[in-house]
Amino acid sequence: MLVETHAHLDYPDFANDFDDVLRRATESGVTRIITIGTSVESSQRAVDLAEKHSNIFAVIGVHPTYAEEAEEDVITPLRELANSPRVAAIGETGLDYHRLPSVSAAKEKKVQVFARALQGETEEEIEASIQDGAHKSRQASLFQQQLDLAVELGLNVVIHQRDAWDDTLEIMRPYSGKLRGVFHCFGGTLEQANEVVDLGHLVSFTGIVTFKNGAAVRQVAARIPLWKFMVETDCPYLAPVPFRGKRCEPAHTRIVAETIAAARGISLDDVAAITTQTAQEFFRFNRT
Ligand SMILES: [Zn+2]
Repeated sequence: MLVETHAHLDYPDFANDFDDVLRRATESGVTRIITIGTSVESSQRAVDLAEKHSNIFAVIGVHPTYAEEAEEDVITPLRELANSPRVAAIGETGLDYHRLPSVSAAKEKKVQVFARALQGETEEEIEASIQDGAHKSRQASLFQQQLDLAVELGLNVVIHQRDAWDDTLEIMRPYSGKLRGVFHCFGGTLEQANEVVDLGHLVSFTGIVTFKNGAAVRQVAARIPLWKFMVETDCPYLAPVPFRGKRCEPAHTRIVAETIAAARGISLDDVAAITTQTAQEFFRFNRT
């Protein structure tokens, strides 16, 4: 028995063969799937799926990448959606500095940026850094609002963090002891993993642990305490080897768990039993 703790089943990638996807998950021993909302609309779809299928639960939230296009008040609709007993946590929420306006601009015009760096700051660069600031503060505000909502509802939080480690921990610090977070798709160092574990949080691992260039993450998964992580796919993204590059699906959670079991030198059954219990304690699967 395995819990797939991070899927995006509401994405159109699964529209054509949804029932087959669920069947293959069950056949692989994935008995429970958590589908993660990335916007208010996506969260609504996640709840709809969870209400229709007994083995699916929903996590509701607004992803930092959607911070700009998100409606001014996302909390009122999220609070309403959380009335569903199928809602297991808040998220995914957090900070993502990977595609800030200045970074995008730099990628598009690599050569010019290099030339400009030699000349000092241009008007365009100043404009981009102002935009970066606005973007970051909008993300931070949405993140904080969702952390507050989680505390209000007594739920834990699925955290998305990319290129924003320090700011993410800084924002979460005052919430220590009030809620727990899972740093999903963990790609950091063992030191960083222990840092979040020491703050009472968890991490979860995707198919990256199977990648040739995933040795560092595999090592972290092998050495972090057995009770401090969960398994996921982040499907439709990050299909594990040998499916790399194809659409990922919840059945592949088993490959992630097998890879971690092999890296730790323990059985798949042990990884499955313990990560399942960790998930049962972290997510709200039954309303008391
Ligand atoms: Zn995700």
